[in-house]
Amino acid sequence: MEVRLAKKLGFCFGVEHAIQTAEKTLAERGGPIMSLGEIIHNRQVVEALADKGLKVTDDPSDVSGTVLIRSHGEGPDVLAELRGRGAEIVDATCVLVKRAQKIVAELADDGYRVVVIGQASHPEVRGVCGYAPDVICIDTPEELDRLPAGGKLGIICQTTHSLEHFGRMVGLVVARGYSEIKVVNTLCSAVRDRQAAAVELARQVDVMFVLGGRQSANTRELAHLCAEQGVSTHHLEKWSDFQPEMAGGKKIAGITAGASTPKWIVEEFTENLRAFEP
Ligand code: SF4
Repeated sequence: MEVRLAKKLGFCFGVEHAIQTAEKTLAERGGPIMSLGEIIHNRQVVEALADKGLKVTDDPSDVSGTVLIRSHGEGPDVLAELRGRGAEIVDATCVLVKRAQKIVAELADDGYRVVVIGQASHPEVRGVCGYAPDVICIDTPEELDRLPAGGKLGIICQTTHSLEHFGRMVGLVVARGYSEIKVVNTLCSAVRDRQAAAVELARQVDVMFVLGGRQSANTRELAHLCAEQGVSTHHLEKWSDFQPEMAGGKKIAGITAGASTPKWIVEEFTENLRAFEP
């Protein structure tokens, strides 16, 4: 079938940097090191690095020796615990996540009550919220009642959210009548480029395939945006998840991939889909 690829898709610079840092550290140490949480939300990459010696733990109290901090970053409490345990920290936090952490701390220093628009359970958001006291994390209109009645608010956003979602939530906060609100745009430009390219492609095709890990927030957001364009959309991890009925009766398929999806997954999927006859 005819297959078109999004103009921007796949690995972002933050993920590439984290993987290169892990590989370089493994080569230098010549033995296993630990990663606090999976390095990226992609099973295939995590398994490949595990074969080279990158052991994953979710519990800082399990850590000994060298520990890699992934691109999502960690809160200051976790970093302090790791240092207290004598761990050697190799920091692969993405520069854009570091920026969000710094802005949260600065907003609090300037007297703003910090509000993070993001998913409270996402590792990046959990870490970012640790850089100021009493941060409020909200992600839906139903959660707006958790905001204080007055005072100065400083608002940032989870890096992987869409501009539309951030704008909608900021608008709803502003409508509640605060006298002072400072909004800092912490959205990731790599994610924004992938979202814009995915939306453009979704408007030209009969079916969209969005490739990436089930846990990957930015891949889920891509799938959500494509589906919003009214096109049949499937979020798959790799070619083996493909079912012929997904492309049944369709002429043109579009492919995009999340920021943590390696190139070989996109290439394998594209090649197989081009050879497929609906
Ligand atoms: S998606 Fe953006 S913020 Fe997240 S690691 Fe990649 S470049 Fe950094």
